[in-house]
Amino acid sequence: MTTTLEISRVVERTAVLGPGLRAVIWVRGCPLRCPGCVAPEDLPFTGGTTRTVDDLAEWLGGLPPEITGVTFSGGEPMSQAAGLSALVTRVRADRDWSVMAYSGWTMEHLRRRGEPDHLRLLDQLDILVDGPYVAARHADLRWRGSANQRLHFLTDRHAPPPEDGSAGIELRLTDDGVQWIGVPPVPGFRTGFETAMRTRGITIAPSATSSDEKGR
Ligand code: SF4
Repeated sequence: MTTTLEISRVVERTAVLGPGLRAVIWVRGCPLRCPGCVAPEDLPFTGGTTRTVDDLAEWLGGLPPEITGVTFSGGEPMSQAAGLSALVTRVRADRDWSVMAYSGWTMEHLRRRGEPDHLRLLDQLDILVDGPYVAARHADLRWRGSANQRLHFLTDRHAPPPEDGSAGIELRLTDDGVQWIGVPPVPGFRTGFETAMRTRGITIAPSATSSDEKGR
């Protein structure tokens, strides 16, 4: 059983990457190279932090009860499906977590060509956001960045949002600077925002570079 995960970063509370208040785990590494993916720093499989499933389960279990879900982003969560699946099994033994994941692979591809770990994780998800970010199809959509990406509600835990528009961007001040999270409704958000902040002498927190037009 896989007992560790390579992680880029985590955040314990957001309202813009899935229904309700959620924790987010950004896994490290993606085998795809979508033009326009504006978080290239997350694509290598090395250079992150190795966390054990036990450690991450303990962290999630210690979050307040209003945090009702966890979202797996990246990087490519399916590349670490075994560890994430073990994590879901572990945390759901104590609390009925809503689980959402992004994948650059389509659901059809995962169902047809997926390995057992992919299928196991897929079967645990409440929501899958599938498909790669396609810059030419950037759109103002709920929780995703381009029109080819789809929301799959795999259980009846959540209903599709009544309107399909951006969930917005969260800004917060951290000890490391300004952090932003979300899926920008306009292309080029990251470059513009971070340039504007730096021009004003405001530091961008490293963890802010996780969310971008790719829909993460
Ligand atoms: S957009 Fe998503 S699937 Fe594509 S390279 Fe970036 S992280 Fe990977």
